[in-house]
Amino acid sequence: MPHWIEAARDKGYDIVARIIDRFHLALRCQHCGELIKVRLFTLISAQPLCSVCTQKQWVLTAQAAGLIFLKRCPDNRHYAFYEAACGHKIRRQFEFAERVAAGKTDLRCDICHKETEMREAAARGWELIGPDPESDPNYRHYRHSDCGHEQRIARANLQTGRISCGACGEQWPAAPSYLYAIQFTLPNSRELVKLGYSNNPESRLYHQLLRDTDMPCEFLRKVSVNSGQLAIRLEKRLHKKLRESFPDAVVPHAVFADQIKVKSEIYDIAMTPVILAELDALAEPTSVSGS
Ligand SMILES: [Zn+2]
Ligand SMILES: [Zn+2]
Ligand SMILES: [Zn+2]
Repeated sequence: MPHWIEAARDKGYDIVARIIDRFHLALRCQHCGELIKVRLFTLISAQPLCSVCTQKQWVLTAQAAGLIFLKRCPDNRHYAFYEAACGHKIRRQFEFAERVAAGKTDLRCDICHKETEMREAAARGWELIGPDPESDPNYRHYRHSDCGHEQRIARANLQTGRISCGACGEQWPAAPSYLYAIQFTLPNSRELVKLGYSNNPESRLYHQLLRDTDMPCEFLRKVSVNSGQLAIRLEKRLHKKLRESFPDAVVPHAVFADQIKVKSEIYDIAMTPVILAELDALAEPTSVSGS
């Protein structure tokens, strides 16, 4: 029919033949020469799409957006997979690529961005766990690498180091701290030795550790360390070494629970020379011993 031919021409196609049945036509794209199958109704009422030209347009739009078009998303016709400039594969709406190409929005690779945030957290001694549990976009959920405590922190505060750990109280920039060994004598005359760290060992002993301040106790060693961060790390490493090398010297919590307010980190007095030797090795060359 003449008006079919005219409609096809207006829409960028030439009619080649009737195909299949009386409702279908084969059209040739005037841009690329591709043959497409179109329903007569579609030709009259809409713009038939040439798959080759459409795909070419996706490729060009992606290029203009600084992306490489990979393929359509099989699950959602509005989405496609692209390769970002960083090499990561990303899934975005076609419409998003168009907006980036038009300079209306910026492209951000989520993978690269997450890696950036993980690095900046690690630089402050924290691990990025995920988004803020309270859904504040300025906050994230982090884990303190030294003590394992998890808390929400504003990303800006993490970036500038204005963080204090809610569990170990570690401030940044870190204050000097101490590793120490204390000897206790329980009311039943059993002697124990505790290895620990604190930025104020005396205060820790008298205000936090002792249930009975009359219980005999004595600082055997105090070793200053540049930062609390380092003190925690050294202390953890020492406890691990002691537990593994001398498992029988670890005193069960029940033995001292009534007198000393810690859960672990207490050893039999026989361990004293080993613990002091470890502390002395750390102390050099700046030792603060005895107290
Ligand atoms: Zn075409
Ligand atoms: Zn990336
Ligand atoms: Zn902590």
